[in-house]
Amino acid sequence: MDPVTRIPIALIGLGHLGKIHARCLAALPSAFELVAAFDSDPEARAAFAKTSDAIICASLEDLWQVLRKRAETSAVAVDIVTPTPTHGVLAEAALHYGLHVFVEKPITATVAEAETLVALAERTSRVLQVGHVERFNPAFRLVADGQLRPVFIEAHRLAQFNPRALDVSVVLDLMIHDLDLVLHLVDAEVVQVSASGVAVVGDSIDIANARLDFANGATANLTASRISLKNMRKLRLFERDAYVSVDLLDKKTEIVRLSDHDPAAPGMFQLPTQNGLREVVMEQPDVLPINAIEEELRDFARAIQTGEQPQVTGRDGLRALALAQQIVADIEKRAARYSFTQSQGR
Ligand code: NAD
Repeated sequence: MDPVTRIPIALIGLGHLGKIHARCLAALPSAFELVAAFDSDPEARAAFAKTSDAIICASLEDLWQVLRKRAETSAVAVDIVTPTPTHGVLAEAALHYGLHVFVEKPITATVAEAETLVALAERTSRVLQVGHVERFNPAFRLVADGQLRPVFIEAHRLAQFNPRALDVSVVLDLMIHDLDLVLHLVDAEVVQVSASGVAVVGDSIDIANARLDFANGATANLTASRISLKNMRKLRLFERDAYVSVDLLDKKTEIVRLSDHDPAAPGMFQLPTQNGLREVVMEQPDVLPINAIEEELRDFARAIQTGEQPQVTGRDGLRALALAQQIVADIEKRAARYSFTQSQGR
């Protein structure tokens, strides 16, 4: 990207992920210039001021003022990395001021807020991108080219306990990553949701399982936990004659395919099946050592510069959130039916 056209961007939220975003923005100097930053916590602002040349605004009003001025002469962007319940209000204000918006996942806490953002971004022709960063995970990118037609999907996303992000359920915090990936892979509507889950530590759901049935006959079985003893992020995809395993954490992809046996050129090993001898071919494609957050921010810059859609649109974020909320509602319905204590907040 031409350094002359680099996009002024502001960062809102200077916590755990906000600091990582600041480093990733700095690693893309030809795409973005971090011009301003804000956090509602004065200590976070003071700590960030020691590491950045950006204007550290003392209030949100100050930040909007700085950005609105710049937006009069060029495309200006904002990167929202604050807790989920604040996404809707902040992103809506930014779009009102004519800014392009990158908002962390989930897009918002409620479907109504997400619908407002999507409509506003479309009306004002501004980019609205959601931080479903796993789409840019190099292990997933190897299978995301539309070649696969999985009919059975297993997703496991297990995380050790972390007191951050307990303001939303594990469905909105973690499972939503896999919901977005599954919706991206299966080209059909979800026709049925059956879910269960439980609040173990706090007031919102800490571990959940959901089974999704799609209109084309595909099914997905997703498990997410934030109270596990070890971390795991795995996706397993099955289709006729193929099994694909994607390890999103260790960045490994394995593809196992069955093909017709060719006696003239036998492969590594053969499998006797009802349909005769089949050849088993295993591939472990090279996974590029790319930084997924840098990649999603690079895509955000591309969308702003070209006017094309980002890879993860506001509509994608809305679709994943609506499905997540359907899952939470099903969990709560089940809990009410069997009258065991369930979550307060979603
Ligand atoms: P965090 O608690 O570490 O940081 C949040 C920061 O936002 C804090 O510094 C807080 O003071 C600040 N803040 C709160 N309300 C604010 C407001 N109204 N205006 C300005 N600043 C405000 O949280 P985190 O782990 O950095 O998560 C932030 C967001 O990123 C969440 O939405 C979370 O879901 C998302 N996240 C995404 C991923 C991913 O894989 N894409 C991973 C972690 C977190």
